[in-house]
Amino acid sequence: MDQQGQNGLMRTFREPWRSRGALAYVVAALLTGFYVVLYWTEWLTPAAVALGLRSKWLLYGALYSVAMVGGAAYYLRHHGNSRYNRVRIAVNVGVQVALAFLLPLIMPLFGGPEAYLSYFWPLSYDKLWPSTLSSLPVYLALYFIVGSLLVAPLLAYRYGKRWYCSWVCGCGGLANTFGDPWRHLTASSTRSWRFEKVSVHTVMFVAVLTTFLLVLDAATDGATGTFHWLVAGGQWWSVKQLYGLVVGAILAGVVGVGFYPLFGPRLWCRNFCPMAAMLGLFQKLGRFRIAVKKDMCISCGNCTTYCEMGIDVRSYAQSNQSFTRAACVGCGMCAHVCPRGVLRLENAPREQADKARVRLPVVDL
Ligand code: SF4
Ligand code: SF4
Repeated sequence: MDQQGQNGLMRTFREPWRSRGALAYVVAALLTGFYVVLYWTEWLTPAAVALGLRSKWLLYGALYSVAMVGGAAYYLRHHGNSRYNRVRIAVNVGVQVALAFLLPLIMPLFGGPEAYLSYFWPLSYDKLWPSTLSSLPVYLALYFIVGSLLVAPLLAYRYGKRWYCSWVCGCGGLANTFGDPWRHLTASSTRSWRFEKVSVHTVMFVAVLTTFLLVLDAATDGATGTFHWLVAGGQWWSVKQLYGLVVGAILAGVVGVGFYPLFGPRLWCRNFCPMAAMLGLFQKLGRFRIAVKKDMCISCGNCTTYCEMGIDVRSYAQSNQSFTRAACVGCGMCAHVCPRGVLRLENAPREQADKARVRLPVVDL
């Protein structure tokens, strides 16, 4: 392993499977095909039963955990010469295996529900739906309400959204491990940034609206027939079903993971995740920032190339400008691959100069 944090950098665009060669398209087709089979067929159920698992979703949890462990080995082989990377990836994989696979597997054996404790609303969109809350024990309902509406925003304000997006969340965890070979494919153009701003906040708005409508429906006890039929009816086009289909299955799974080899691993997080949008707003108000050491940048562009969220870090570094971007998930890779040690992730009170900073243009590369 090279000790400069540069291991793997030179190979980024040389390997066809990592640079949109034919093999990348084959892998993308296999991944999207897997999600189509998972969501819309029962083909995986016999395999799950044969393995002693209750459902195809537990088999998916097992495969997901295996992909993260394998991806973590790949990631740490290339970037494990950093304590931040080692601890972060170990925690993220541990949370996935313990809270999103083993606990849901074990809890029903003791009479509890199959609850995924590392996922909060609005990422796990139905966690605050009345139908979900009423089916949970009170302590779990409180866990998800307080966690989603209070703890997650407060921690994002204090530490930035990295506490969730890069340390806890399974979607972010898969992107940072299994998806790491393709991180440099994330677009950093002005057009992609404009698309991201509109799309991610639109999904957040729709997630909040859907939950509000379902709470209203439950509050009126489904009394107004047409409203109940439109919002919570069993038809695939009711608001409740449509959100699950479009956001939960197509955007988060088929597109979000299936297109890793073509558009980078944070396609979902960056463009569609309502949790990322919500936590990003608190991050902008809070203490997290990427500090830039003045007059050190040599404009090599490693930071921008390796940013999985398509942030043009180099433009800030060149301008000696510390910054906080709502999209940043605090993965730390920009700081890790910088050959001059220009960048540092911080949770600190803003200096006056940072408060008054000018908004830098996002430039096409
Ligand atoms: S700006 Fe740096 S820390 Fe933030 S997402 Fe990009 S690479 Fe990760
Ligand atoms: S901040 Fe570091 S990695 Fe980014 S362009 Fe400057 S020298 Fe290169």
